[in-house]
Amino acid sequence: MSNVHLDDRHFVPAVKRWFSEPLVLTEGKGAVVRDSEGKEYLDLFAGHAALSLGYCHPKVVSAIKEQAEKLIFSPYDFHTIPSVELADRLVTIAPKTLKRCYFASAGAEAVECALYMARKFTKKFEIIALYGAFHGRTYGARSAVGWYYYKRGMGPYLPGVTHIPSYYCYRCVLGLEHPSCDLRCAKMLEDAIKYQCAGDVAAFIAEPLQGTAGNVPAPDGYFAAVEKILGSNGILFIDDEVITGFGRTGKLFAIEHYGVTPDLMTVAKALGGGVPISGVVSREDVAQAFAPMDYFTTYGGNPLSCAAANAAVQAILDEKLSEKAARLGDHFLKRLGELTNRHKIIGDVRGKGLLIGMELVLDRRTKEPARRESLKLREEARKRGLLLPAGFGWLGNVVRINPPLVITEEQVDEAVEKVDECLKVIS
Ligand code: PMP
Repeated sequence: MSNVHLDDRHFVPAVKRWFSEPLVLTEGKGAVVRDSEGKEYLDLFAGHAALSLGYCHPKVVSAIKEQAEKLIFSPYDFHTIPSVELADRLVTIAPKTLKRCYFASAGAEAVECALYMARKFTKKFEIIALYGAFHGRTYGARSAVGWYYYKRGMGPYLPGVTHIPSYYCYRCVLGLEHPSCDLRCAKMLEDAIKYQCAGDVAAFIAEPLQGTAGNVPAPDGYFAAVEKILGSNGILFIDDEVITGFGRTGKLFAIEHYGVTPDLMTVAKALGGGVPISGVVSREDVAQAFAPMDYFTTYGGNPLSCAAANAAVQAILDEKLSEKAARLGDHFLKRLGELTNRHKIIGDVRGKGLLIGMELVLDRRTKEPARRESLKLREEARKRGLLLPAGFGWLGNVVRINPPLVITEEQVDEAVEKVDECLKVIS
């Protein structure tokens, strides 16, 4: 198309852009992406964490090319070599009790399937989720989402979904402090089972670190406490690793930080190296609740996405990106800690591996969210060639730092220096 108009007249208004002046991305390599005018940006967002391998990882590109020339598409009805290989790979690296895979395209579809499978297996219908949780925008997944912003103006949602306070320590809704709180939020799961539910709870669903809420890690011991409560009540644990999976937090799967084994796990984003693919990995007996055609999607397990995913997962393992995320994440946190000493607007810096949340506040005591300043920070960063995900999170004041895991230490330092400059300008 020669005369492309860069406005949104043909998109539904639900599509929201980062910038008022369109940013048109045309090509990228590693952690750097270029726009249509040739300007380069260091990317700290990695496409909602889908680009853990960075832009156009050579192994993913060649796997896609090779597969596209052989067999672009074949539905789930037939076996294909890439899909069988991918299921083998996932079962090999997933927490050890997880033995069966289902593939789809979007993270929300994986969540939807996990909820369905848990309900079919337990023959129960209730689901417990967390405040601030994000699990996707399909009906079931959205019912488990724990905030007004993503649910407003619609409803009723799926019946039987209960939400309990999450582990957002910086803004604890219970008004407690960690560790003297003794993980009261985890214990509220027991209260919800006893007092709020109808004795029909199929599953508890949670992200091990809440991503969309503002890159918020669960404190140590949280999931061990949850696991105990679930175990004694015969409730399944669905671990939503759509953002956290495949090395992002410094372990292959973030739940490994907590020494807990889920019953079902949802994966997507980094899995495809940039190509749409998602999956559920579940316990053998839980998967057996499904009869043929209980679940199906046309593009599930398609050979092109699976070939890309095989290459992506292998590259993450070969390049030891989990270990790298742990090391660079510590370095990033340390450097941001230095900025905290210089800029009063930084209220909190937290994270695990390369999933880091930096929260901006107008006043460190009241923690009033600095929303407008966060948006200004995003624009300032753009001017300096930095794609900085500022203005996100529960209250719109968090910089959600989740760069490609292939970022270098020099690039981390360059990013911190640019953030420092921008913070000087906005305050
Ligand atoms: N679960 C989690 C934890 C997510 O962060 C997201 C998306 N950000 C989803 C599910 C939904 O994924 P998708 O947008 O691919 O449907």
